[in-house]
Amino acid sequence: MSSRETKTDVILIGAGIMSATLGTLLKELVPEWEITVFEKLENAGEESSNEWNNAGTGHAALCELNYTVENPDGSIDISKAIKINEQFQLSMQFWSYLVESKLIRNPQDFIIPLPHMSLVQGEQDVTFLKKRFEAMSNNPLFQGMEFSDEPQKLMEWIPLIIQDRPSNEPIAATKIDSGTDVNFGALTRILFDHLKSKNVDINYKHSVDNIKRTRDGLWELKVRNDSGNVERHTAKFVFIGGGGGSLHLLQKSGIPEGKHIGGFPVSGIFMVCNNPDVVAQHHAKVYGKAKVGAPPMSVPHLDTRFIDNKKSLLFGPFAGFSPKFLKTGSIFDLVTSVKPDNLVTMLSAGAKNMSLTKYLIEQVMLSKEKRMEELREFIPNAKSEDWDLVVAGQRVQVIKDTEAGKGTLQFGTEVISAADGSIAALLGASPGASTAVSVMLELIKKCFPQQMKAWEPKIKEMIPSYGVSLLKNPELIQEIHTSTARTLGLSENLPLQITRQTVS
Ligand SMILES: Cc1cc2nc3c(=O)[nH]c(=O)nc-3n(C[C@H](O)[C@H](O)[C@H](O)COP(=O)(O)OP(=O)(O)OC[C@H]3O[C@@H](n4cnc5c(N)ncnc54)[C@H](O)[C@@H]3O)c2cc1C
Repeated sequence: MSSRETKTDVILIGAGIMSATLGTLLKELVPEWEITVFEKLENAGEESSNEWNNAGTGHAALCELNYTVENPDGSIDISKAIKINEQFQLSMQFWSYLVESKLIRNPQDFIIPLPHMSLVQGEQDVTFLKKRFEAMSNNPLFQGMEFSDEPQKLMEWIPLIIQDRPSNEPIAATKIDSGTDVNFGALTRILFDHLKSKNVDINYKHSVDNIKRTRDGLWELKVRNDSGNVERHTAKFVFIGGGGGSLHLLQKSGIPEGKHIGGFPVSGIFMVCNNPDVVAQHHAKVYGKAKVGAPPMSVPHLDTRFIDNKKSLLFGPFAGFSPKFLKTGSIFDLVTSVKPDNLVTMLSAGAKNMSLTKYLIEQVMLSKEKRMEELREFIPNAKSEDWDLVVAGQRVQVIKDTEAGKGTLQFGTEVISAADGSIAALLGASPGASTAVSVMLELIKKCFPQQMKAWEPKIKEMIPSYGVSLLKNPELIQEIHTSTARTLGLSENLPLQITRQTVS
């Protein structure tokens, strides 16, 4: 039985950080546009954006070793790190704008200052880290980075990791105090509360089953509501922000740009420390090096987190294989994503990535004691009884045909949009939530080219470095670092206030 029918300007599918960011940007740019949201779960930020489902790292390339590579001549290429840092600065500026405009009351409800560190062991990796430090610390985007291979200094920085370390193997770390821990779940909920206060029509427990083009060029969604009834809703523009669920919806839209694309799911598991004495001994995000054969998103890290107003300690994520595209998805997700148009792409990817698949399946089978062994590379005397396993979110990496060949696995995020800009989907999940503002601005530019001229002044008011290379404007970097740190309460001399979420 079909019940409700509506017509609106914009439909956002999914209530994760991406829809939250796009909706908030659009409400600032064109407040009069009507926006409707459909989310299949009971609340916003329950899938990958939830605080327990991701690592909460404000990815600014301050500690992630996989964003810098060693060239054959031994020099270090930091171009990817620069790109990601500049993208994160866009998020920081937008969040600051929301705080200054009183749309977010207390930034400490979602962002906390936390040192970001990289840690390596062994002579070869210590030499790499030193060279990387030299390449980065001269760059204004990474100012304040320190390096040490002295046990005493390291003991001061990361006592939990250094104490009781049995071997005399060389060990070194870099540390930068301007890193952040971001509660993307809290931020998503804050932004959806704000959207609700702006009369955005948010429908939870509403699952989008189908999308099709109407004769008059609109998009019609078939939506199953909480009573199981089918509703039909039309819009001029649709954003498919379904996280892992986006690929299936993109395929249903039938747009040619969505063909020949597949998805490769990677699951995640964290270990959470339940011993407050251990938690109290660590205060940083410490990223190590990925194991040989491991995908880049499974770089092990030991992270202080601030969740539910409480300091926690998480280790992981351990990558694994699950055929589901969402944590709350179906075991048939992978199989049903294979269509005639992406069959060859998927088969090619399968053949090329046998070793990765084998690695991921082996990871799923790891016993808790095996995972403890990996943790002990960080905390030598970690006790099994102090740690519990928690299942994190699913990431669906994009598979597509590229110059590198058919069925190439991609590790970034990708906006796929129709030629006329009337529908767009976000695929992939890395660097992810941290770069939501940059990715949604890219989507706006692609889908609303006619409006960009009129919108640009407002975008620049919200995000002063929009369209400008920060690297080429060191004074702007300084200005932005200082003002965003002050507005978001990240300056060291500001008291740390962790309170309940407050929304205007
Ligand atoms: C283990 C792990 C660690 C990570 N660590 C980090 C990190 O440290 N830093 C970082 O920046 N990023 C990190 N990420 C990535 C980040 O979490 C994601 O990029 C981001 O949360 C994606 O947001 P989203 O809005 O696209 O998707 P989601 O948050 O997954 O939201 C999508 C929503 O769409 C809904 N939906 C799906 N299908 C339908 C449908 N048919 N109808 C209605 N609703 C639907 C879902 O229920 C869900 O609520 C991590 C991810 C994982 C899995």
